[in-house]
Amino acid sequence: MTRSYVIKPELGKTYPFISRGKGIYLFDQEGKRYIDGCGGAVTASIGHAVDEVAEAMYAQAKEVSFAYRSHFSSDAVEELGAKLAEWAPGSLNWSFFVSSGSEATETAQKIAIQYWQEKGRPTKNRIISRWMSYHGITMGALSMSGHVLRRKRFVPLLEDYPAITGPYPYRRPEGISLEDYALQCANELETAIKRVGSEQVAAFIAEPIIGASGGAVVPPDGYFQRIREICDQYEVLFIADEVMTGVGRTGKAFGIDHWGVVPDLMTLGKGMSAGYTPMAATIVSDEIIETISKGSGLIMAGHTYSANPQSAAVSLAVLKYVEKHQLIEKSAQQGAYLLSRMEQLAEEIPLIGDTRGLGLLCGMEFVKNKDTKEPFPLSAGVASQVIAKAFEKGLLVYPAIGGLDGVAGDSIILSPPLTITTEEIDELIHILRDAILAVQQELQEKALI
Ligand code: PMP
Repeated sequence: MTRSYVIKPELGKTYPFISRGKGIYLFDQEGKRYIDGCGGAVTASIGHAVDEVAEAMYAQAKEVSFAYRSHFSSDAVEELGAKLAEWAPGSLNWSFFVSSGSEATETAQKIAIQYWQEKGRPTKNRIISRWMSYHGITMGALSMSGHVLRRKRFVPLLEDYPAITGPYPYRRPEGISLEDYALQCANELETAIKRVGSEQVAAFIAEPIIGASGGAVVPPDGYFQRIREICDQYEVLFIADEVMTGVGRTGKAFGIDHWGVVPDLMTLGKGMSAGYTPMAATIVSDEIIETISKGSGLIMAGHTYSANPQSAAVSLAVLKYVEKHQLIEKSAQQGAYLLSRMEQLAEEIPLIGDTRGLGLLCGMEFVKNKDTKEPFPLSAGVASQVIAKAFEKGLLVYPAIGGLDGVAGDSIILSPPLTITTEEIDELIHILRDAILAVQQELQEKALI
């Protein structure tokens, strides 16, 4: 083909063409093999080209792919809803299906606001979120996001929502215990609610583990327990954004399960359909649905493709595959191994400031000075260089470059399919090590470290 008519992430850059995938591997049309060390965008969680999913896709397509949700429900949609209710904690029993994580978080935002309207408290309509965070690229989701790079151009158009600092254990103030730090960070929510007035606040939204804007930043124990207490005390709903952390990625069904906390709303995407189809969900508690049922009885959200049988059948096949192959347990085991191998790299290579994660959601932060934790300026593009070098060598890793220039380092995320074996992790680490060492050497040659 001579020219392209497709808008690519980087205009003017040439991208290899994908040809096929199998398990943790992808192959381009030149025959080059890549380890999918990040499941694309933390998405391909059961590996590529799984027969069971292809069969479920075909079987549903032969019957009916699309029927509009205002006209029909379907076996696929009902079974998927039931499965998620079984997996989800507490009374999170009701699923609203959409097609992307951004739609899921915006739907959660709308349902939270509507809940308070139905209770006769329409001024409760603001959402508190965190620096750092990422909840999606559409305007409502971006308003709730603290991803500086993605917000920057649109700030005047975004909702001016209050935001608090999220826990960032690696960069916590010196001398404070993790326990105290957890409470200090959580208590910022109380201060923010008091500042704004609880009559103005509908919900607080957080990723259980910070993803795209931080690089698998795990909060200290006690943080989410205190967040839950504050939300209850001030009548603020808690939305857990599980788009990245849900469906086994962190070694539990959902990220928030690590702390035994039950949110009022939860969002899913990515691993929910493992990349086999666009699919996402907003999962809502009994109390919220009962309140809206008694009120208007209509949820003012939804998209053309919401709850289509085709995507539901595919997502259901993915969830069944996760159960059948015990991939949640595997994520916990293999994640511990991956993290231990990353820690070994960090001992050897000064460029690596921190390694962290839970299950197979792991992060690695690069720093200019390991002793002082001094970050590189964003302009140095160190994580981007590691990503490019790894790509060259046949390994895909995901950027976590939130853009808090000079405040946080830039990071990468490792989140391979949950099916990854120990030998495959060794292979991944081997390539990653080569890539980081090559970048470190280039930085030394340019006297940047
Ligand atoms: N929430 C979180 C936690 C995410 O990581 C993402 C995607 N990186 C989104 C929401 C947005 O999802 P999507 O890109 O599917 O719109």
